[in-house]
Amino acid sequence: MSRDIDAILRSPKAYLWARKAIEAMETHRVWPTALNFELWLHYVAVKDSDVAAQISTVIQSGAPFTDQIGEAIAAQHLPGAKLTGEILDAGKSLSQELDSVSRAIESARESSEAYGQQLATATESLQEQDASAVRTMVETLSQATRKVREENQALESQLADTTDELARMRAHLEQVRRDAMTDSLTGLANRKAFDETLESACAQAQQRGEPMTLAVVDIDHFKNFNDTWGHQTGDQVIRYVASVIGRVGATPRLAARYGGEEFAVIFPGEKSAVVMAAMEGAREEIASRVLKRRSTNEDLGAITISTGIAELKPGDSPMSLLEAADGALYASKRNGRNRTSIAAANSETRAA
Ligand code: C2E
Repeated sequence: MSRDIDAILRSPKAYLWARKAIEAMETHRVWPTALNFELWLHYVAVKDSDVAAQISTVIQSGAPFTDQIGEAIAAQHLPGAKLTGEILDAGKSLSQELDSVSRAIESARESSEAYGQQLATATESLQEQDASAVRTMVETLSQATRKVREENQALESQLADTTDELARMRAHLEQVRRDAMTDSLTGLANRKAFDETLESACAQAQQRGEPMTLAVVDIDHFKNFNDTWGHQTGDQVIRYVASVIGRVGATPRLAARYGGEEFAVIFPGEKSAVVMAAMEGAREEIASRVLKRRSTNEDLGAITISTGIAELKPGDSPMSLLEAADGALYASKRNGRNRTSIAAANSETRAA
C-alpha cells in the first residue's frame, strides 16, 4: 500500500474515499480486487498521481480496465505492489521446491528403512543357511545397497538444484528490492528509500548523540527550462544533476531524487559546516559545466541549483528537519538562487 493511500485510509474521510473508489470501479466495470481498489483510490483521491493519470488515459481510450492493465500500472507506479506480487510468486515457487525436496527425502527414508529390514532378515537367517543361500542373500543385499545409493545420488542432485534455485530467487528478490528503492531516471534512491533512511538516520543520530545533516536541492528555473527545451532534454539535465549529487561527500550517505527536480542528501555523522563545503562543491561544478542539447548541440544555458541545509537538533523529528532544510532552500531561492544556505540552529522553532 502506498504512503498516500495509507494516509487516506487513516484520515477522517477514509470511508468517503473508499465508497467513491468502489463507485468508480463499478461505473467502469472493474473487479473490486485489492490491487484494483488501491489503484482506484489513487484515481479518486490522489488526482495528481501518475496512477490517476494512467487510469484516466485508459478510461478515455474506451478500452476495458483489465487485470493486466491494473497490474502493469501497479508494476510501474506502485513499487510496493510489485514487490508484494514478486514475493508471493517467489514464495509459491519456494514452497514447490520444498515440496519436491521433502518427497525425495521421504522416498530415500523409505528405501533406507527397507534396506535396514533386509539386512536384519539376512543376518538372522545367515547362520542356518548353506553356501548357495548365502550367495543369494549377498546378491539381494548388494541390489538393495545399489538402490539406496541411487536414491541418495538423486536426492543429492535435487538438493543441489534446489540450492541453485534458492540462490537465483534470492538474487531476484534482492534486485526487486533494489528496484523498489531506486529512481529509474537517475539511479539515485527514490522517495520511499529516502523517507525510510531519513527516519532511521534521525533515530540513530539521536540515540547515539551523533550529528546528522540533511541537504535538499532544487534545480533553478527548471520549469522554464523544460518549456524551452522539452521534457527529454529536461530529463537529461535531471540525470546530470543527479550524477553530481550522487558523488557528493564521503560515504556513507544517501542521495535521493525527492521529487521532479528536487534532490535530497542525508549525511549521517556530519555537521552542517562539512556538508556546506560538499554542497558548495557540487553547486560550483554544476554551474561551471556547459551542457549541450544532444540533438542539435546547442548550449543549454546555465544550469544552477539552490540548496538548503539543516543539521539535526535535539527535539527534531524527520519532518521538522526536512522543513528546516526546505526553509533554507527557499532562503537560497529568495536570495537569488545558485547558492547554498544553512537553516537557523534554533531547535525550538523547528521541533515538531
Ligand atoms: P549519459 O549520457 O548516460 O552519460 C553517462 C556518462 O558518460 C557521463 O556522466 C560522462 O561521464 C560520460 N559521457 C557521455 N557522453 C559523453 C560525451 O559526449 N563526452 C564526455 N566527455 N563524456 C561523456 P556525466 O557527465 O556525469 O553525465 C550524466 C548524465 O547527465 C548523462 O548520462 C546525460 O544524461 C546527462 N548529461 C551530461 N552532460 C550532458 C549534456 O551536455 N547534454 C545532455 N543533453 N545531457 C547531458
